[in-house]
Amino acid sequence: MPMNVKPVPTLDERINDIRMRTAEIVNQWILPNEARLWGYRRRNEVSDHERRESLALREEIKEAVWKAGLWAPHLPKEYGGMGLDFLAHAYMNEVLAYAVGAASLFGVVAPNSGNQSILVKYGTEEQKQQWLVPTIEGKMESGFSMTEPENAGSDPRSITTSAVLDGDHWVINGHKWFTSNGIDAEFFIVMARVAESDEAAKRREGTMAQFIVPTATKGVNIVRGIGIWGRRESDHCEVVYDNVRIPKENILGQVGQGHRAAQDRLGAGRIFHCMNSVGQMWRAFDLMVERAEVRQVHGGVLKDKQFVQGFIADSYIDIQAARLMTIHAAEKVDQGLDGARTDISAIKVFVPDAYHRVVDRAIQVWGAAGITNDLPLAGMYLGARTLRLADGPDEVHKILIAKNVLGRYERGESWDFGN
Ligand SMILES: Cc1cc2nc3c(=O)[nH]c(=O)nc-3n(C[C@H](O)[C@H](O)[C@H](O)COP(=O)(O)OP(=O)(O)OC[C@H]3O[C@@H](n4cnc5c(N)ncnc54)[C@H](O)[C@@H]3O)c2cc1C
Repeated sequence: MPMNVKPVPTLDERINDIRMRTAEIVNQWILPNEARLWGYRRRNEVSDHERRESLALREEIKEAVWKAGLWAPHLPKEYGGMGLDFLAHAYMNEVLAYAVGAASLFGVVAPNSGNQSILVKYGTEEQKQQWLVPTIEGKMESGFSMTEPENAGSDPRSITTSAVLDGDHWVINGHKWFTSNGIDAEFFIVMARVAESDEAAKRREGTMAQFIVPTATKGVNIVRGIGIWGRRESDHCEVVYDNVRIPKENILGQVGQGHRAAQDRLGAGRIFHCMNSVGQMWRAFDLMVERAEVRQVHGGVLKDKQFVQGFIADSYIDIQAARLMTIHAAEKVDQGLDGARTDISAIKVFVPDAYHRVVDRAIQVWGAAGITNDLPLAGMYLGARTLRLADGPDEVHKILIAKNVLGRYERGESWDFGN
């Protein structure tokens, strides 16, 4: 079924226009072709002809998105993006995310989108020309390499990958995993610690920095695309950096800015994930109601059974709550990322969990069909579960919420939920 999007009376004309034009592309171009759009990724399952067809179709849709002026909503206009603020982007994204994976057809796809945002903020003009512009044009892929198997990803200060300045080069040594998009990436942004001798410095944020590492550099060893959720391989890669030498100029920002840059990147990324989840929940909801209306069981249709009515009502409540929380957080980010951290963590906990519940109910209503590849629900289910780990697990975000709340009360204030 097409997505039902009408102008929102409280929104300005510009955002409503963006939403309506996004919905037009989703409904006319993407949803009718959804089954064919992903063939290009299933190298061993589809014929060469199907792969080529899928790639050509994607290019055609991207062209339509460009022409409609809807490309790269997260980037400034000077870099070919739409220059949207977070709030406008949240309103657009809930529409485009209705179709599975549609964000990539609109030029927003992790980890490229996060890398682009930090290149815009921390990159030199040369770095922007060499690494940012080609990723925006879709001519280059990238990855973000921070998490290490031997250290807790929840505690980025535990990173041990080292960078040592040797003449005109940085020499990087370390072991990473879950570097997403690692198979296709032409460069990684690598988080490392600029090596210092004393033990205390090894945990200080002041020694963290990010480096642009072309994946073709000698010593960048992609060990494997880690198998996840029962699949043999994924594009989340394990990477060993073995004496990797990169030019001195490839540092992104300054030594000591690495932790901050990672937080900036992840803060924005978490909101994008939640905006996507809202669109996907909307889709799962439509699918659930659509099925409930027609499926005959035990002498009646599912929609007349109170269990199913409960699913519909609970899902409605989950979606409204998740959507309003996400819009609120986006509004806060536009007023400054620091003031929004509590709300970003709140949505990062609530929204993936709500998404998980909604998809779970939709699968239940569809019965066995719910877990088949004929519907997008199974993929959504795994995606929702995964989101409770990626970009910081739930527990870490709850700790941050409690810390910020308690800090305020300890300073003699209380929480103002209106601001
Ligand atoms: C699909 C996917 C894609 C990813 N992509 C990337 C990527 O592109 N680049 C990248 O660098 N990383 C990536 N990651 C890694 C991700 O950021 C980490 O997995 C995440 O930060 C958690 O780190 P960890 O896996 O080391 O878990 P750990 O830090 O070992 O934590 C394990 C568990 O401990 C619990 N926990 C942690 N701290 C506390 C605490 N203080 N109190 C109570 N419980 C706690 C949580 O339940 C947590 O799930 C990706 C992960 C996934 C799943």
